[in-house]
Amino acid sequence: MRDDNCIFCKIANGEIPSATLYEDEDFRVILDLGPAAKGHALILPKEHYPNLYELPDELAKKDIVLAKKMITKMTRVLGCDGYNVVQNNGASAGQTVFHFHMHLIPRYENDDAGFGWNIGELSDADKEDILTKIKEIN
Ligand code: AMP
Ligand code: ZN
Repeated sequence: MRDDNCIFCKIANGEIPSATLYEDEDFRVILDLGPAAKGHALILPKEHYPNLYELPDELAKKDIVLAKKMITKMTRVLGCDGYNVVQNNGASAGQTVFHFHMHLIPRYENDDAGFGWNIGELSDADKEDILTKIKEIN
């Protein structure tokens, strides 16, 4: 299942060249063209799924195992100090390419990758609301 209008379908399947770090029958791992830090990479499935909601469980399992392998190898290659493994779903969450992908972002002490969020506080109302509703959904 591919989408003819999707750039990541074309990259993942080799129709558009990319800086490929790894490839197997299910995935291609490439360097991001707009890296947050040196070595920022993307895991792309070869089949088109818009986001994690749509990704089949079998691919999701393989994806996280591959993420672990890649960051282990890349930590040695780059000599980085840590990693953010990030995956955006929906425009409101910062997704700009609607073909599932996982970001592997190496982190270096005192880098300026600027990755994070504002820390809030869990209110009693939110907690009760969420805990009640999650029990109602299977
Ligand atoms: P997201 O915002 O989670 O959808 O991430 C999209 C990512 O794809 C961004 O980090 C972009 O820099 C990256 N990107 C977009 N087009 C390309 C491309 N042709 N090759 C490599 N990376 C790309
Ligand atoms: Zn696609």
